[in-house]
Amino acid sequence: MDDLASRLADVDARISDAARAAGRDPSELTRIVVTKFHPAALISELYALGVRDVGENRQQELTAKRAELGGLAGVRWHFIGQAQTNKARAVRAAADVVHSVDRQRIADALHAASGEDERVLDVLLQVNLTDDPARGGVAPDELESLAEYTAGLSSLRVRGLMAVAPLEERPAAAFARLADYSARLRTVVPDAGWISAGMTADFAEAIAAGATHLRIGSAITGQRPPRG
Ligand SMILES: *Cc1c(COP(=O)(O)O)cnc(C)c1O
Repeated sequence: MDDLASRLADVDARISDAARAAGRDPSELTRIVVTKFHPAALISELYALGVRDVGENRQQELTAKRAELGGLAGVRWHFIGQAQTNKARAVRAAADVVHSVDRQRIADALHAASGEDERVLDVLLQVNLTDDPARGGVAPDELESLAEYTAGLSSLRVRGLMAVAPLEERPAAAFARLADYSARLRTVVPDAGWISAGMTADFAEAIAAGATHLRIGSAITGQRPPRG
């Protein structure tokens, strides 16, 4: 096996182990491979290895790679970066799932961008697990109101929550709070059970805390090239 195949297999084995250790069925988990800064050719290689969920954090890069790889049937493109209102149309055109709705204005912009398109866009509400507003994500005490607002927009479907573990805290503690927020979200949108959490450094903790969607980059892709 080449390096990419062996790293992917290794991560998948670790995901299965973590799921079983938590009494969960590994098949409940969606492993998104984060390919940011890597060339589109890497996504073709991953596709040949069976990867169908790909994550990008910059709109221009997402748009360019999706255009280049339009022939890869069945790829689901996850937009995991900070969403800007002036990029909403392009994000909507290129993403199947947007993980980073964290304020009414971005929900509005994504909804307005639906235009004639009758496709409903899957979105996650990003929650800030830190006290630093600059880190992105809705403050937890505003979660229910953002959920109500977003669920009221007919072209968006609220599927769940997304979060990034803080640097300054044990991931398990932060992800435990996220599980509570997920329960609170489901009092507003009962079927919004997705939890997008867990990266290279902390996916086992995220699985133990109930994550359904893992966003794993470097453990699979190898070291990222410098930000272009
Ligand atoms: C880059 C990125 C990841 C993947 O990070 P790794 O540590 O390489 O696994 C996950 N989520 C978000 C939001 C990212 O920007």
